Amino acid sequence: MKDDSCIFCKIANGEIPSATVYEDEDFRVILDMGPASKGHALLLPKEHFKDLCELDPEVAKKVLPVCAKVGAAMKKSLGCEGFNIVQNNGEAAGQTVFHFHVHIIPRYAGGPKIAAWTPGSETPEVLAKTAEQIRAAL
Ligand code: 5GP
Ligand code: ZN
Repeated sequence: MKDDSCIFCKIANGEIPSATVYEDEDFRVILDMGPASKGHALLLPKEHFKDLCELDPEVAKKVLPVCAKVGAAMKKSLGCEGFNIVQNNGEAAGQTVFHFHVHIIPRYAGGPKIAAWTPGSETPEVLAKTAEQIRAAL
């Protein structure tokens, strides 16, 4: 299903032109208009899913192989040494476009930090309690 008010539905289905690096029957991978690094790409399903929790499992199982293919091509073609896969769910997590997408971000030697956080610390008791809270909701 498509959402007529969704810009990523329009881009994924070719109604709005984009710098496309890969396309198949399920996905279009385009370059991000505000790249974190040269080649920063977005994998967009052609169907509309708001986020990871709504993504069709049949589509979901095809996501990582496409990310791997594009990431490997980035290393070969752009000279990056690695790449990050980033996927935001919900406003609090930084999601700004509510059509599931995966960022594929090339990482170059000496480049800026991307998707980094400061590790905290936690007691084993609190970790066990938190794990129990999540398990109970599965
Ligand atoms: P989010 O923060 O939702 O995970 O990421 C949305 C991303 O989509 C941002 O990095 C933003 O630059 C990119 N973006 C938003 N609108 C467009 C667009 O119309 N075209 C392209 N190529 N990228 C877009
Ligand atoms: Zn959409």
